[in-house]
Amino acid sequence: MTWTAEQKMRLLFALRSKGVTDKRVLTAMEKVDRGLFVQGLFADRAYDDTPLPIACGQTISQPSIVGTMTQALDVGPRDKVLELGTGSGYQAAILAHLARRVYTAERFKRLATHAQHLFDTLGLTNIITLTADCSHGLPDQAPFDRIIVTAAAEDPPGPLLAQLRVGGIMVLPVGQSDAVQTLIRVRRTEDGYEYDELGPVRFVPLLEGLGRE
Ligand code: SAH
Repeated sequence: MTWTAEQKMRLLFALRSKGVTDKRVLTAMEKVDRGLFVQGLFADRAYDDTPLPIACGQTISQPSIVGTMTQALDVGPRDKVLELGTGSGYQAAILAHLARRVYTAERFKRLATHAQHLFDTLGLTNIITLTADCSHGLPDQAPFDRIIVTAAAEDPPGPLLAQLRVGGIMVLPVGQSDAVQTLIRVRRTEDGYEYDELGPVRFVPLLEGLGRE
């Protein structure tokens, strides 16, 4: 079963009312049924603008935060994107509609395997899913045009900054894991890095090493 026109409209309305107005982003989000990425107990809340629990004690982000981050990332059709924190795979599936290629890494094998299965079902062949601790980035595939981090670190990880191409953009939450964090955007210029703040957010922590599930 796919989502109904009413569920779609409800989600798009929530996105617009939270400032997600970029047409390309809205079109990409309209193509991805969030219900496929939320299972079990919370399935009936898949179209609400709220974060929800997924396996391994993790969360699928709130749709308006996914929209805000995707909009801030300003992804183009030739871009190579790195996502740290596959989780359910929802964010990666949206990026796949905007980018040339998406590398997404997850420290829990169980989540990565499940997300890969969904990408295969949806025919999203431009996503490369890896089970890996990505806190040091993916040096083999660097540099990236865009980097999105969907888990919170206290500061932008140095290796990720280094793997951003000059002219590239990274969007990530920074701050203590048990407090409200700040969403920031980093632009790499010829001379260094420029930072701007996009608002308060709450993400699960970025952890080192592989997960045990
Ligand atoms: N983008 C996801 C939400 C992710 S929640 C979605 O659309 O559903 C954050 C995810 O980051 C969790 O699944 C967590 O296990 C993962 N994570 C945390 N630290 C990580 C690391 N060092 N490397 C890879 N994944 C990590």
